[in-house]
Amino acid sequence: MTSATAHRDHPETAAEFVANDARAHWHDQSLWFVRARRDKASQTLPEWEELRERASKVKLHTMSRMADYLEQFERNAIALGAQVHWARTPAEHNEIVLGIIQKHNATRVVKSKSMLTEECHLNPFLERNGVVVTDTDLGEWIVQLRNEPPSHIVMPAIHIKKEEIGELFHDLLGTEKGATDPPYLVNAARQKLREQFLNAEIGLTGVNFAIAETGGFVVCTNEGNADLGVSLPKVHIACMGIEKIIPKAADLGYFLRLLGRSATGQPITTYSSHFHGPRPGGELHIILVDNGRSNILASPEFRRSLNCIRCGACMNTCPVYRRSGGHSYSTTVPGPIGSILAPTRDAQEHASLPFACSLCGSCTDVCPVKIDLHNQLLTWRRELALKFLVPFDKRLGMSLAAAVFARPWLYRVGGAIARRVFPWLPRMLVYNRWNPWGRQRELPEMPAQSFRALYARRKRNHKVPSDQKPASR
Ligand code: SF4
Repeated sequence: MTSATAHRDHPETAAEFVANDARAHWHDQSLWFVRARRDKASQTLPEWEELRERASKVKLHTMSRMADYLEQFERNAIALGAQVHWARTPAEHNEIVLGIIQKHNATRVVKSKSMLTEECHLNPFLERNGVVVTDTDLGEWIVQLRNEPPSHIVMPAIHIKKEEIGELFHDLLGTEKGATDPPYLVNAARQKLREQFLNAEIGLTGVNFAIAETGGFVVCTNEGNADLGVSLPKVHIACMGIEKIIPKAADLGYFLRLLGRSATGQPITTYSSHFHGPRPGGELHIILVDNGRSNILASPEFRRSLNCIRCGACMNTCPVYRRSGGHSYSTTVPGPIGSILAPTRDAQEHASLPFACSLCGSCTDVCPVKIDLHNQLLTWRRELALKFLVPFDKRLGMSLAAAVFARPWLYRVGGAIARRVFPWLPRMLVYNRWNPWGRQRELPEMPAQSFRALYARRKRNHKVPSDQKPASR
């Protein structure tokens, strides 16, 4: 599976999504519906803010002793009979997975949704090596059949309409032409996936939470596909980013209560399956992957982004994500959190992402583990400017704005000139390539007076009696 939109800036890829006005509106509304469900679910818990605070503190504490907890997890997982592998890079991760598959002379793998394996581009790697991989989460399977990456980390096929799925299934599975009835389509998918489950030799899952104290881990799905995928084959490979570690089993409750509610508004994900060592007679391999995470850990500005439990709440609320679609980010994890994580891996390639943000702060408000997302995005903009990775026209615009804002007299004079001159300028002088803001919108009508003048007049007309003035300190 390849990213169809790699190496292009966000405005360019977003423009393609926005060009289909009906789809962009429908996408926006679908995600807003999920966001509203999240709000209702969070309001049912009076202790919601306390849960967020505790979960955030657990994560921050874990990060302060990450290496210790990972080693403790390794010891306990091995004591339970698991085999633990460490991978620094996606290439190392993929080689380890392939090595396990080849050791068992296997060629058929069923995979439950794992963003880490997407991040490592595992599917195309295995396919190149003669392994048939089937994604068993329904949304993930649909995007796999369409040969495209997921557009959302919890709802991978949220950008696709049921009519399109009906067409896809008709072409590939032979369902009735024009069928759009969800139960009918789901049933067709279930029949096909059942064959894959029965034939699989290896079951591969992600990991939502790994517990250092016990050496066990938890996988959360809504379809039960992870459980089915690892119940039939004898070999289970679990792939986890190192930030999935938490210290104690007692901490788990905070995260499980926050995850489902933040993701889709459910009280809890339908299946939260616990794994402690291999099944009798089977093998359990756990692969701990770094892929840049220890660099993030070492960065005081962005360390908090490792708190992320991949609920997707920041995406559902983000006005930019909802209107531009997940593929416009050209990263495995899109949206606000993706715009922080992606530049930590390759600042040059993903330099446009921290600017795909209005700094409204809504993502920070909904984040269940209190990541200060919009502040980190702002920090990224400064970092990118210092690295000279901001395009020349944007830099020029920002420098001019900074020069004007730093000189009140210039701001006043500039405003006075603009108010008089702009209404008379021909459109081509105002709406041209130097005014990217004006590409999608009209400039507001120029007011007759400046805010400063209006304020001064209002103050003159509403003089506060001296006995009502606040006492000076
Ligand atoms: S602050 Fe930026 S990234 Fe966060 S929700 Fe608002 S627009 Fe999206």
